[in-house]
Amino acid sequence: MIRSAVILLIDIKVVEIVTNVPEIFSSLVFNETVMEDKLPRETYKVVKKTIEQGIPLDPAAAAVVANAMKDWAISKGATHYTHWFQPLTGITAEKHDSFITPVNNGVIMDLTGKELIKGEPDASSFPSGGLRATFEARGYTAWDPTSFAFIKDGVLCIPTAFCSYGGEALDKKTPLLRSMDALNTQALRVLRLFGNNTVKRVIPTVGPEQEYFLIDKKLYDKRKDLIFTGRTLFGANPPKGQELEDHYFGAIKPRVAAFMAELDEELWKLGIFAKTEHNEAAPAQHELAPIFTSMNIATDHNQLTMETMKKVAQRHGLVCLLHEKPFEGVNGSGKHNNWSLSTDNGKNLFDPGKTPSENAQFLLFLAAVIKAVDDFAPLMRCSIASAGNDHRLGANEAPPAIVSMFLGDELTEILDCIVKDVHFEAHKSHKMKLGLDIIPAFPKDNTDRNRTSPFAFTGNKFEFRMLGSAASIADTNTILNTIIAEELKQFADILENAEDFTTALNELIKNTVKEHNRVIFNGDGYSTEWEEEASRRGLPNLRTTVDCLPYMVKPEYVKVFGEHKVFTETELKSRLDIELETYSKVINIEALTSISMIRKEIIPAVIEYIKDITTVAANKATIGANLNNSFEQKLISRLSDLMTDLYNKCDLLDNEVQSTTKCSSHFEKAELFKNKVIPAMNDCRKTADELETIVGKKYWPFPTYSDLLFRV
Ligand code: ADP
Ligand code: MG
Repeated sequence: MIRSAVILLIDIKVVEIVTNVPEIFSSLVFNETVMEDKLPRETYKVVKKTIEQGIPLDPAAAAVVANAMKDWAISKGATHYTHWFQPLTGITAEKHDSFITPVNNGVIMDLTGKELIKGEPDASSFPSGGLRATFEARGYTAWDPTSFAFIKDGVLCIPTAFCSYGGEALDKKTPLLRSMDALNTQALRVLRLFGNNTVKRVIPTVGPEQEYFLIDKKLYDKRKDLIFTGRTLFGANPPKGQELEDHYFGAIKPRVAAFMAELDEELWKLGIFAKTEHNEAAPAQHELAPIFTSMNIATDHNQLTMETMKKVAQRHGLVCLLHEKPFEGVNGSGKHNNWSLSTDNGKNLFDPGKTPSENAQFLLFLAAVIKAVDDFAPLMRCSIASAGNDHRLGANEAPPAIVSMFLGDELTEILDCIVKDVHFEAHKSHKMKLGLDIIPAFPKDNTDRNRTSPFAFTGNKFEFRMLGSAASIADTNTILNTIIAEELKQFADILENAEDFTTALNELIKNTVKEHNRVIFNGDGYSTEWEEEASRRGLPNLRTTVDCLPYMVKPEYVKVFGEHKVFTETELKSRLDIELETYSKVINIEALTSISMIRKEIIPAVIEYIKDITTVAANKATIGANLNNSFEQKLISRLSDLMTDLYNKCDLLDNEVQSTTKCSSHFEKAELFKNKVIPAMNDCRKTADELETIVGKKYWPFPTYSDLLFRV
């Protein structure tokens, strides 16, 4: 009865949302349409120019914009504003200020141009990697007019970049914007060579697909590991996992459907193009894909999407887990970063057209990407490195830590022909017949999907699949932009000085592909054969975060970042320190949580169970039963053996954690966590999980995988 009422409610809600979408879409965003409506014509023109040309906003115009923005926000119920920024914690930060300004006997609501453009949060507690000592704790936030202000939880949020007193970037947004500029500069040079003089700007576009888990809040609250670390540190496999593949694209359960409907509504209000929602491979796992948009907006939107997912889940008695590996034994969560380049007049530069072999411009851009992936694979690996993501890469679910590229058969064949100097006979579009006349035949997708490739060309964009679900997409995209800018720069340098453009172009494409096609791999990226083959080809396989991070400061990479003005050496070094420190902190929290759960929950629970079995045995003895070889005796002895084992392993883990405190360098410490603490923690888990399988359900101190994964 209650259940059907719920379903009915959901149905009504869905209908209500659908009719209102165009009306609510972007209703909480101070976007161009609103600006055009609310600002005087002259001011609007100034703002538009600022956005298009990426120049600072004139102070007089800023005052007018601030006032209009404030009035608009108040009309939507806001009383506060904040500079919203993306510090190196990977999540977003905000500090609320109210609009009130005292006058005579009362207050007025005010937002000045200065307050809009620049903020000075005392942000000494954000990671700076030594860039900012506490005595000069001030950081500066500066409005990024290319990303619109919006209202969240009744607060006007002004998207900003966050820098130190000396101008060093302390956030993820600043380098992203710098890298977009670098890429624009170099891509325009190349386009001009092809006689394209009308394009004013080249903009990277991104559509990030976001995976997540939803579990019941009441169960979540009973697990310290989920609360403190976002993942389960213990848990035996349930009898059923994802082997039947009945969850993937399966019917969405009513409670999840209600969550998704509300999530969509909230995201639409923020102008986020939430488009596709479906169940993923693992039980309780889902995915949301937005329609792609320009990169810096997509980055803001992905942060907002993750935050909104968590918030909306709570309203439904659920918890949204964004960790890369919340559960052992079932798939983890990633984020597919679909990336392409678009001109300001809307042309996708990775659109091969009908005969890709003839499209030299496309092939040149493609060659730049191939070369970039080969030259900078370790940096791409770094850009997605985190303690959480280490659980996915290399496991049988996500691309391994080897960065390779999938191009599909046709494109690979074209490149082969170019290298071998033979003419490519364009295949007639393959017709795939589905064997049923009712369904019309459709042209075969030449970029046949390969789900195991870390970096796949999917028709007119690249899909980078190594990203972890919890991370900001800023780091990855900053790297992608920079490395491709670097290759385009090298190409432009050659071609601008060529005597004969066409000859030079052909040579360049041919030589580049010849030199770098070792990164192209169209086969099964999950297979062990590929690991062996990749090693023969000399491709790096940087298995863990600690293995890859030091590459961030490799001198030739530092030079590239410097030349394109994306990172200074100081900024890179500080980021490396922060990443290593974060890694150690994460594993430290996990280890301490493991120890606490073992000592305070698991051991006492098993003692209770042993006590009850002992009582049964003692009672049996009073009636003269023979306990030799009895199940009580066997069970008690097995339980106590495992308990001794667990007790000792837990002490060992404790010792390993203690020994990390003696390290002097961030790297040395991270290495110890990787080499000593993680294995000790895994060892404890093995024994604890075995205990879980033989201890009575009512004794086990926290919900099991069966409860967590199948009870939403
Ligand atoms: P899937 O990879 O799941 O089959 P699609 O190919 O339809 O799905 O799209 C996946 C994502 O790629 C979507 O978020 C979509 O908006 C995005 N996307 C499509 N075209 C581009 C593009 N030119 N640039 C960036 N992202 C794009
Ligand atoms: Mg995809």
